[in-house]
Amino acid sequence: MYPWGNQRRFNSFAEYFKKQFGGRVQKLAIDAGFTCPNRDGSKGMGGCTYCDNDAFNPSYCHPGKSIITQIEEGIEFHAKRYRRASRFLAYFQPYSNTYAPLKKLKEIYAQALSFPEITGLVIGTRPDCIDENKLEYFRELSGSHYVMLEYGIESCHNRTLKRINRGHTYEDTVAALEMTSHFDLNSGVHLIFGLPGESREAMMYEAELLSALPVKNIKFHQLQIIKGTRMAFEYNDRPEDFIQFSLDEYIEFIIDFVENLNPAFVIERFAGEVPPRFLAGPGWGLIRNDQVLTRIEKRMEERETWQGKKYQV
Ligand code: SF4
Repeated sequence: MYPWGNQRRFNSFAEYFKKQFGGRVQKLAIDAGFTCPNRDGSKGMGGCTYCDNDAFNPSYCHPGKSIITQIEEGIEFHAKRYRRASRFLAYFQPYSNTYAPLKKLKEIYAQALSFPEITGLVIGTRPDCIDENKLEYFRELSGSHYVMLEYGIESCHNRTLKRINRGHTYEDTVAALEMTSHFDLNSGVHLIFGLPGESREAMMYEAELLSALPVKNIKFHQLQIIKGTRMAFEYNDRPEDFIQFSLDEYIEFIIDFVENLNPAFVIERFAGEVPPRFLAGPGWGLIRNDQVLTRIEKRMEERETWQGKKYQV
């Protein structure tokens, strides 16, 4: 038995959710039509060099449809696919879902919470798109619903953040996480491995940096370079600046990383899954996330290791 109360070798999101909600809860992706300050000129133009949000949206999730319609269609879609799905988290995923005046956020999130099947909100955003008034509103909601603020932080290294044109710093990340924790809200972070200019050691150091921060959930992605993005051109010009992990290399790397990670962090995802037709880089073919997870867990067992094995407070 590990500190997280079960026999899996990492603090698993699925098990955490079962404990939290007492059964299956499905996430419904919603596109509420937000933009982001890195696209509209207030922070930058053109967005992060790897950004192509269109690659990630499921078919029912489209800003041309109202939030009510997206939720109705999403519930129907998941009810067919997973017969037992009866409770959902509204996952506001694309772009920056706190990047609007508070009044507008209230209108949007009230629509989602008007469905009795929606037990909570997961709100994807950037560390520089949050403030105390918004967090106070989310704290009020968290009295009756699950609320998670999910921050795309991508890297803890300012040099990388600059190179990928993120338009925010690691200090912004730390401030957002500390503020969110101050309001007693759940915060998740999203990290990408393989960004240009980052060595394996630089990525590994992020386990130490993040482990000291008030993070609840964490998601990892291997860098997947999407065709047509600025990063695809950069990769074409300077491939030597990128560590593109093969699947086997990534499995060893992510296990090393997780060994150094705070065992209190719930791991929500180890890797990303983008259809190979979108990719400019080599990719891993058609392997699904659940297959990658099975391989990671098997390898953890072979290596007789677990999350936090090498973590030092
Ligand atoms: S913050 Fe997100 S939506 Fe905005 S440009 Fe970057 S990846 Fe795209």
